[in-house]
Amino acid sequence: MSDGSAVLGLDVGGTTTKALLVATDGRVVHEERRATVPAADPVDGLVAELDRLTVLAAGHGLTVVGAGVVTPGLIEEATGTVRYASNLGWRDLPLRAALQARAGVPVTTGHDVRAAGLAEQLLGAAHGVDDVLLVTIGTGIAAALVSGGRPLAGGTGAAGEIGHAPVRPGGEPCPCGQRGCLEVYASGAGVARRYEARTGQARSAAGVVGRLDEDPVAREVWADATSALADALVTATLLLDPSVVVLGGGLTAAAADLLDPVRAGLAAGLTWRPAPPVHLTRLGSLAGSLGAAAMAMTHVGRSADLVGWRAVPAR
Ligand SMILES: [Zn+2]
Repeated sequence: MSDGSAVLGLDVGGTTTKALLVATDGRVVHEERRATVPAADPVDGLVAELDRLTVLAAGHGLTVVGAGVVTPGLIEEATGTVRYASNLGWRDLPLRAALQARAGVPVTTGHDVRAAGLAEQLLGAAHGVDDVLLVTIGTGIAAALVSGGRPLAGGTGAAGEIGHAPVRPGGEPCPCGQRGCLEVYASGAGVARRYEARTGQARSAAGVVGRLDEDPVAREVWADATSALADALVTATLLLDPSVVVLGGGLTAAAADLLDPVRAGLAAGLTWRPAPPVHLTRLGSLAGSLGAAAMAMTHVGRSADLVGWRAVPAR
């Protein structure tokens, strides 16, 4: 039963900001996606967004009691300072402190992929599992690690940067300065770039996947992508022993064309131990904003109510 209170979850991405208004009983009342507008002062922009959504909530008869804002980049979890977010052009931004000082509701902040991992664990494909590896495959590749029920941020907030694991030592150069990174082969940008390099034709990664039946170059580029991903998952499995691996991000639209070769490659790469099950995300592109809303619940002392959120239907 709703008590008329709600939380906001904002997932601020390089191109799109997703916002959710979730009643504290777990009902998703409102959902929107807008282009991320670069503001001279990003905190101004976010405060205005939170104010607008709070008014919108009132129109639904709901009082916003808290908000969670998640962003990409290198984030100091203890302070909520964004050290570096290349896609947003932010450096050393004390986001949490600034939002807490200026927003009209209690705000917490965090990392987008770790928030998505939390949401998948709470409501999605890793529901009820304490040891989870979530890998999001979009323009780039990053992972959320949950071990013993705790999300791992690492010593500098940089845990989970599996996209820059050198899965092909001495391989193709990555914009990060290393060679042979997973992203070079298996990210959306990597698949598109490698296909264009071979054919001279610009296609999105989804476009490449759409040509697997008739185009041997598409098959070759996609096989390189899924085998690089499987190899990264072999290493991650040996290191972390996840009970489940969840794949998220835009490339999960490839469905069985992604899942089947990755499962096979992971199983083939592990000889003496079984492979963990690999599932596609159940929350899709809402995972980050749902995780942000869940973080807001915890921040305002309502984490016990998150049990009721398990009724949120899969998307
Ligand atoms: Zn790299």
